[in-house]
Parts: sequence; structure tokens; C-alpha cells
Amino acid sequence: MTSYDTTHEMYEELAVGHALSALEPEDEQVFLRHLPGCAACAAAVSEHSETLTHLAYAAVSDSPPASILEGIRAGVAESGRSGAFPAPVSLDAARTRRRDKTVRATTAILGAAASLILVAALVLMNRGLQSKADQQQQATDKLNLVVKTLLVDGSREVKLTGSAGKAVVVVNGSKVSFAAAGLPTNDRSSSIYVLWAKSVSGGVNAVGTFDIRSGEPTVVNDLKVGNPNEVAAFIVTKERGRQAPALSTQPAVVEGSV
Ligand SMILES: [Zn+2]
Repeated sequence: MTSYDTTHEMYEELAVGHALSALEPEDEQVFLRHLPGCAACAAAVSEHSETLTHLAYAAVSDSPPASILEGIRAGVAESGRSGAFPAPVSLDAARTRRRDKTVRATTAILGAAASLILVAALVLMNRGLQSKADQQQQATDKLNLVVKTLLVDGSREVKLTGSAGKAVVVVNGSKVSFAAAGLPTNDRSSSIYVLWAKSVSGGVNAVGTFDIRSGEPTVVNDLKVGNPNEVAAFIVTKERGRQAPALSTQPAVVEGSV
């Protein structure tokens, strides 16, 4: 058996738990007795506390650097835990088998660290979603402004919705204008968006193609539909290649009934 008391590695592990305030009282005592005489452990505690402060700061920051989130993801993956907090260390078992306790205490510390990291990651994720919601609201506001410029007397507005964004088709006789906002940019070397018109009889025809180059609203004018009175719905798909296929097998990005 490796000697419990002379292995400095143990104190290095306890330093993490100490910084997290996650040590069993017994371990805390052991560590506090050791700490005053050990510069390495004092430095470790200071370093871990600093890391935790950074994590806490990142959790409340409006724009956390992506690198922090990546680090957290890596940390969670490395710890092999997806957030389950470990069962408390059994003291009885610990007293009979100290080595066993060391291993389990270490697991508990890693678990505590992983849980804290997971909480920080969830907070960041929430912020990310919130900011995404704001972006989509902005995109919707801009889209509404653009659509106002497209609407003329006698034209009809067809709203297309989907999880990835919004679009509006303005139908004026057989002339069609299209505006989209919030859709993800496409790789212009290998993909293209296609606007389809689905007729009341079920036939689907490509009305036009377009690219999304930025987060700004995209407008396509001068499109045409064969018989506007026959159109039951408009659908946008993202296709491979640079042309509308005869038939799409891709899911709808946004769609809306006329
Ligand atoms: Zn030490």
C-alpha cells in the first residue's frame, strides 16, 4: 500500500477540494494542518481559487469568451461525468480502508468540480440562448421593415416560419418577392437555398434560389409563380449543389401556408 501520509499527491488533490469548500471535515483538518508549511499547496489553493473566480465571472459576464466554454466542455468530458453528483463518501468504509477513502474522496472532489463546472456551463448556455433570442428578435424587426417596402396595393403577404429563422413571401399577381431573416448563412460553394411553391394539387415547383450571406435580411425580387391562385404553401429548403433539384428531399427550413 502506498503510504497515505507521505504522498504529497494527496495534498494536491485536497487543495482542489479545499478551494471548492468540498472537503469532508476530517480531510479539511488534514489539509489545514499541512497548508501553513507548504508553499506548493498555498500556490495551488490560490491558483484553484483564481480559476473558480474566473468561472464565476464568466458565468455572469455578458460575452464570455468561447475559449472558456470550450475549456469547460473539455473539463466535463475529461472528468467523465455529465453532472451526476457522487454519493457521499462513507466514513465507516473510510476508517477501515484509508486508501480506499483517498480514492473515493478524490472521486468526490472531481465530482464536485465537474458539477460546479457544469453549473457554470449551463449558465453560459442560458446566456447564449438569451442572446440568440435577442438576435432573432432583431432579425424579425429588420425583416418587418424590409417587408413594408415590398408590400404594394393588391399584394399578399405569406409568412414562413421555422426554428432557424423567418421569411416572408410577398405575392403580387404572378410576381413574387421574398425576404428572409435569421436563416444561417450557407456555403456558397456547395449549397443553396431554394424557395418552393406547393400547389393545391400537391405539386411542388422551385420558384427561385438564393444565398444567405450574412445576418442581415436577404431580399429576392422578380420571382414568378405560374398560377398564384393555385399556390397552397411556400417552403424553403437548403439543397446540396448550386441548383434547385427537380425534387427536394431536404427538410423545410421555413414554411407557411398561403
Ligand atoms: Zn503541500
